[in-house]
Amino acid sequence: MTRDEWKIADGKEKPEGECPDSQEKLDMKSLDYQELQDYVTALGEKPFRAKQLYQWMHEKLAGSLEEMTNLPAALRKRLEAQTTITVLKPVEVLTSALDGTQKYLFELEDGNVIESVLMHYRHGNSVCISSQVGCRMGCRFCASTIGGRIRDLRPSEMLDQVYRIQHLTGERVSNLVVMGTGEPLDNYDNLVKFLRMLSDEHGLNISQRNITVSTCGIVPGIRRLAEEDLQITLALSLHASNQEKRKKLMPVANQYELEEVLAACRYYFERTGRRLTFEYSLVGGVNDSPEDARELTALVRGLNCHMNLIPVNPVKEREFVQPDHSVVQAFKNKLEKNGLTVTIRREMGRDIDGACGQLRRSYMRKEEI
Ligand code: SAH
Repeated sequence: MTRDEWKIADGKEKPEGECPDSQEKLDMKSLDYQELQDYVTALGEKPFRAKQLYQWMHEKLAGSLEEMTNLPAALRKRLEAQTTITVLKPVEVLTSALDGTQKYLFELEDGNVIESVLMHYRHGNSVCISSQVGCRMGCRFCASTIGGRIRDLRPSEMLDQVYRIQHLTGERVSNLVVMGTGEPLDNYDNLVKFLRMLSDEHGLNISQRNITVSTCGIVPGIRRLAEEDLQITLALSLHASNQEKRKKLMPVANQYELEEVLAACRYYFERTGRRLTFEYSLVGGVNDSPEDARELTALVRGLNCHMNLIPVNPVKEREFVQPDHSVVQAFKNKLEKNGLTVTIRREMGRDIDGACGQLRRSYMRKEEI
């Protein structure tokens, strides 16, 4: 497969700025501050109206135009006719009895469902969002990719996952991880716009340093992101210590050699000064041996990085198993002895349909019956 074919791997050309067919009105929540100013002034309104509107949508997290009581009724009527304000509908909310983690299943305007997670940490509340409906990357152990990619999410749909959760819980969200369903760098333009809007001082103003984007390793996307002048953390899903093993777990590795992926990560660090995170899902009998640990250390030597080990979450449709706790601990110790900074990802919400994409899949299974 050539690189160009990769872009259309699902057989469809990806239209620029893709929108679902039903979306004929202007998606007002996807306009950034400047674009909203331009739109509102083009309507013949004063610029401060744009400021009010932006504040309602992105700071007060209003769910409708009716709530925007300081806007003249005539303007609200015009906006009603020309625009939509994307608001996600929670169709299921599960709360973990173990740690208070909440999983949200949201319905989009076109009936698709996506999932988001709220986690409580000592350093603040963190939301994990989805960036696409489904995913086409095909990682063997991942539930999100099983039905393929349905469509990209628009900036408004990524933003509103955070907005609805903050609004529904009344708790401030201070951290964000793009680690839910989808490959964020496969929805590049919408992702970057979303990141800028989420960290905009006119909106929720979440610090870019508290934002992490996780990728399976799309090399041109990593290099582009390095040049965006953002202060976000890049997390690379590594999952194997050599090219051959990685190819078996992650089809994207057929497209980009491990060496190129790591070179792109190094470039990201050089441009941004941000320490890299590597994610390594430990799969019993597949990538958890002492030899794997040794090879992994050698692979990332010299990189300013942090290794996050994730004992694989068993997925109903897949046969992968978690290594024993002692194996995970031994793997960690070996990396640490070799000088790496390592954490084992704390499993959050274990009792509420653990791994990425599983809540959405179990909902879809129910709907099919
Ligand atoms: N597309 C992005 C974000 C995906 S999810 C990426 O590939 O990074 C975030 C992380 O969870 C990725 O490292 C992904 O490989 C991992 N993951 C997915 N399914 C998993 C499972 N069943 N067990 C453990 N980790 C999993």
